[in-house]
Amino acid sequence: MPQPAKTDVVLVGAGIMSATLGALLRRLEPDATIAVVERLDSAGAESSGPWNNAGTGHAGLCELFYTPEKSARVNEQFQVTRQFWAYAVQHGMIERPRDFVHPIPHVSFMHGAHGVDRLRRRHDALADHPLFAGAEFITDFDEFAARLPLMASGRSRDVPVALDWAPQGTDVDFGVLTTKLIDYGERHGTEVLFGHQVRTASRESDGSWTLSLQNRHTGQSRTLNTKFVFIGAGGGTLPLLQRSGIPEARGFGGFPIGGVFLRCGVPQITAGHRAKVYGAPAPGAPATTAPHLDARMVDGSRWLLFGPFAGWSPRFLKHGRATDLPRSVRPGNLASLLGAGIGERALVGYLLSQLRQTDSSRIAALRDFVPGAVERDWQSIRAGQRVQVIRGGRLDFDTTIVHAADGSIAGLLGASPGASTAVPAMLEVLARCFPDRYPGWLPMLKEMVPSLGVRLSDEPALFEQVWRWGTRVLEL
Ligand SMILES: Cc1cc2nc3c(=O)[nH]c(=O)nc-3n(C[C@H](O)[C@H](O)[C@H](O)COP(=O)(O)OP(=O)(O)OC[C@H]3O[C@@H](n4cnc5c(N)ncnc54)[C@H](O)[C@@H]3O)c2cc1C
Repeated sequence: MPQPAKTDVVLVGAGIMSATLGALLRRLEPDATIAVVERLDSAGAESSGPWNNAGTGHAGLCELFYTPEKSARVNEQFQVTRQFWAYAVQHGMIERPRDFVHPIPHVSFMHGAHGVDRLRRRHDALADHPLFAGAEFITDFDEFAARLPLMASGRSRDVPVALDWAPQGTDVDFGVLTTKLIDYGERHGTEVLFGHQVRTASRESDGSWTLSLQNRHTGQSRTLNTKFVFIGAGGGTLPLLQRSGIPEARGFGGFPIGGVFLRCGVPQITAGHRAKVYGAPAPGAPATTAPHLDARMVDGSRWLLFGPFAGWSPRFLKHGRATDLPRSVRPGNLASLLGAGIGERALVGYLLSQLRQTDSSRIAALRDFVPGAVERDWQSIRAGQRVQVIRGGRLDFDTTIVHAADGSIAGLLGASPGASTAVPAMLEVLARCFPDRYPGWLPMLKEMVPSLGVRLSDEPALFEQVWRWGTRVLEL
């Protein structure tokens, strides 16, 4: 048997998580040998791709389904991400921020007396918070119409409306950003293997890991031996963690929820909406399906995206296999999966109702936001798969880092708040998996993220400083 190729780090998957971790590690350890293994032929082609997610730089500014506490937490996390992006641009790791991030207001929207009251209470709960300064509460219909003409046109003035308007939001093309970060690694010695699927990860007696890879075009197999593996395989993470046999992965299950967006690229229509506007999720619906009408910038063109509508498929990846869900059922997670099936009846009912949706019924839902919407202007597109984590018989909508006790292997499960919090999530991977090296990395990490370890809510002067820096460097 030929000896496997040896490397210090293997990153499984070329999505935003691996791309971010790879860029951080490349900066911290310029001489480390790093390999990225991706089953598809390009980076950022699964959930991180621009049409597979909504491109919201989630900062808790408009997500009505977050509690005020969670909004503040997610905002703090997004500030960490934003600082790293500014550092990466300033130090030439990535170029042309306008390729991947644009300023856009983030807005919460409610109508009807009850909705207006609910939104007012939410606005008041965050009004004095330093990270939410500048948000405006708007109930005047003329002002609403001036700011969101597409949403006001054809709407009855008799029904009260309210907006919570945060001017400092962003629209992000995470696919382009992923590609830029992967390219940065490759220019500095990272090996990137596209079209290769990691099949198994086995622990060796010296504590290292041997990964078996298959070239999806030629069918040829090869192996890679590494001291550290990060499984950033999106929906493919759970099966690989299960196959690694680490006890920490036992008991976890996954439930895939697909998404469908309506998309419009008609210039006369896209010109009438320059914001990301979020409503509240339907009763019984998962929070991640709160409807929103998003202005997007993709490939230099303006688009509108509305949704997501939930879809269902047993695949864990958009380009995955129908056997993904059944193959993930193990004796160790069966009870948990069954428990979730019984406990989440409202969700199952909601998903079934969503499966009955047709293009016409999706347009009817869109008319809540765009009263004058007509079917011919909007096209349905399939979004990415989210594999929601199941543990302890419950569905968990957050992200979870699972790692072996010795830190030699880690994976990220779940997809919310998602790509926007890739940097704090990957910093957590570094802290947990490299406890001996992390203190030595801290000075450089603080250059990358000056607020590291500090709550910006408690340090308004530092917040002001890093906010201005990011705004200038990222051309926001
Ligand atoms: C409908 C929807 C809307 C969303 N909206 C937002 C949003 O507005 N803002 C936001 O911040 N986040 C959003 N998210 C979440 C965000 O898209 C994800 O959290 C993020 O893209 C996940 O990145 P990742 O790198 O973990 O996974 P991915 O981008 O899915 O990358 C994983 C990669 O691993 C590869 N892979 C899988 N298995 C293997 C294997 N065995 N071997 C080799 N390669 C493998 C895949 O091909 C893929 O390229 C949304 C997600 C969805 C589905």
